[in-house]
Amino acid sequence: MIGFNKPYYTGKETQYILEAVQREKISGNGHFTQLCQRFLEDRYGIAKVLLTTSCTDALEMAALLLNIAPGDEVIMPSYTFVSTANAFVLRGANIIFADSAEMDPNIDVDKIEALITPKTKAIVVVHYAGISCDMEKVMAIASRYSLFVVEDAAQAIDSTYKGKALGSIGHLGCFSFHETKNVISGEGGALLINDRKFIERAEILWEKGTNRSAFFRGMVDKYSWIDVGSSFLPSEITAAFLYAQLEKIDEIQRRRMQIWNAYYHGLLKLHDAGKITLPHVPEYCSHNAHIFYLVCRTGAERDELLNYLNGSGVNAIFHYLALHKSVFYSSRYQGNDLTHCDRYAANLIRLPMYFELNDHQVGQIIQAVLKFFENTGN
Ligand SMILES: *Cc1c(COP(=O)(O)O)cnc(C)c1O
Repeated sequence: MIGFNKPYYTGKETQYILEAVQREKISGNGHFTQLCQRFLEDRYGIAKVLLTTSCTDALEMAALLLNIAPGDEVIMPSYTFVSTANAFVLRGANIIFADSAEMDPNIDVDKIEALITPKTKAIVVVHYAGISCDMEKVMAIASRYSLFVVEDAAQAIDSTYKGKALGSIGHLGCFSFHETKNVISGEGGALLINDRKFIERAEILWEKGTNRSAFFRGMVDKYSWIDVGSSFLPSEITAAFLYAQLEKIDEIQRRRMQIWNAYYHGLLKLHDAGKITLPHVPEYCSHNAHIFYLVCRTGAERDELLNYLNGSGVNAIFHYLALHKSVFYSSRYQGNDLTHCDRYAANLIRLPMYFELNDHQVGQIIQAVLKFFENTGN
């Protein structure tokens, strides 16, 4: 069986973890945390990066920083991971779901404006598969209505929109380093602060509501409890692991792009024949080969293809169940049209995608998909 994902180890992770232990500092905000944060700030042009224990935590920090309060409305796609919504639901927000675009599973930016009310506080975009939303349009709407924009860039490290890194465009952005992402630390994430006015308070929330960060910089003579907060910072063990990955990011990205391109070219004739739809990458962006997905014509055909691939030794899988149909939130969904979201939930398949997938395996997977359509004569 060719697995769907396999965490990649660069080989240096354990060396750096040992080094963290030998430095006799394995709690958070030490040597490796600083290295990772500076690396991300420099590479992606971000004013301030704070490592977190997950992207979920980074999203929760974003909701706190924006002072989301009960009754506030937050607009986001329904086709996303639960954490995108949960972070704001925890603060009492009502989630207003927007449909996905026709051409890709991202939020349809042209449907955002109609959902804005006097209660709207923020727009959260998700760059699905590391493929960018049209950020200029999103930022223009936000500025017209004085709304905040959070980029859930969990899947989007190293992707760009018109040359700018994803995660560096909204007021706040969030990365994930979960083991299923391109660059990993087991569990892990980062809050990306682009609007400088949030930096000082973000450090306080991050350090359990204390001004400990300012204290360590010698800016205050004692540290005390000055705001709400939580334990959002990861240990140095996590940061040490992550730094070994960040050092190899170009190599990781190069291989993932090769695999993505091989899938794309290998399956293009099915796309051209109208049997499947391959990912649409708009001209304004460069993607990071986080996910290789294809969209079938119907849900029934998707399920058949999934069964066929899994029966042929290829662990392909579907993706999100739409949040507006979830057990937890369906009763609060406002009933607007989410046709494309429903279509991606029913018709989308993800193929195996990981660094160590070899060319032979990629060829086998392509052949299996081609064979399904030959066999069924569809
Ligand atoms: C992976 C993912 C998350 C959650 O990331 P964690 O680091 O596991 O908390 C959130 N949003 C999206 C879109 C994701 O893909």
